[in-house]
Amino acid sequence: MKHLFGPVPSRRLGISLGIDLTPQKVCTLNCVYCECGKTDHLTLERKEYVPTAEVIAELEKYLSTTPDLDAITFSGSGEPTLHSGIGEIIAWLKEHYPQHRVVVLTNGTLLWQPEVRAELMQADLVVPSLDAVSEDIFRQINRPNKHLSNSEIIEGLVTFCEEFDGEVWLEVFLIPGLNDTPEELACFREVFDRLRVDRIQLNSLDRPGAMSWVQPMPRENLMAIAALLGDEVEVIGKPVLRRSVASFSENTRETILATIRVRPCTLDDLSASLGLHALDVGKYLDVMIAEGEIEQHRGERGVFYQVKR
Ligand code: SF4
Repeated sequence: MKHLFGPVPSRRLGISLGIDLTPQKVCTLNCVYCECGKTDHLTLERKEYVPTAEVIAELEKYLSTTPDLDAITFSGSGEPTLHSGIGEIIAWLKEHYPQHRVVVLTNGTLLWQPEVRAELMQADLVVPSLDAVSEDIFRQINRPNKHLSNSEIIEGLVTFCEEFDGEVWLEVFLIPGLNDTPEELACFREVFDRLRVDRIQLNSLDRPGAMSWVQPMPRENLMAIAALLGDEVEVIGKPVLRRSVASFSENTRETILATIRVRPCTLDDLSASLGLHALDVGKYLDVMIAEGEIEQHRGERGVFYQVKR
């Protein structure tokens, strides 16, 4: 399986099968906190980065085993709406496996394009992110493609929320000293008032990011900012799910590699995701470290493993 990963235990979505539609790493942004590393191809070009038919064939193969999933999520190592086949894949999922909740995690930078908004209409939940309102802070945190304008992105988000019938959860990633100033928080409040969203969730660094100077925000600070911003604003919780789901790969080593190729994981993350005892996962990790295939870094939640780049 080249385009699916997990299922992984998501803090917000439960047991989630991931779909990765872009090669490492193609995105419209190059966020300083990105857990997938630096963006190699900073682009606004929409195209079929991986064959749509291949993604659908992998989904058919895995979903026909009737896995117990809470969500099928477009995420992975880049911006999924850059893929021109995302609408076709969502439509296929809703036609053939309507029992599954289809979720799109997006940076929201292309929602000003009517065709992108139209392609997401059949999803059940869309989770756009918005990390700044001011143009200069947007550029400092998200380091966008030079043709993007944050005011245009925000207008696209407002329009999408008006048109979309499903749920929208807005995510705001906070970086101490950058987008948590009183001025920027007041700007966020003004934008929130214009958005018809179901939830607004605050997040902070959880895994090692692209830039080592980015620090996590203490939970008590996140809670204080959430309280300041309003009743509908919450802080993303810690993972609680430990239900195991059969992985789509029989080969444990390959499955571990496929998972940490997309994003760094702790031993606990992998153990929960693969339904294996931590000791067993640890044995695989020890061998792969000894062979130089993967590396480890200490982060806020413990030791994270990722494929060597
Ligand atoms: S965090 Fe998301 S939007 Fe930002 S660079 Fe990484 S993949 Fe792109």
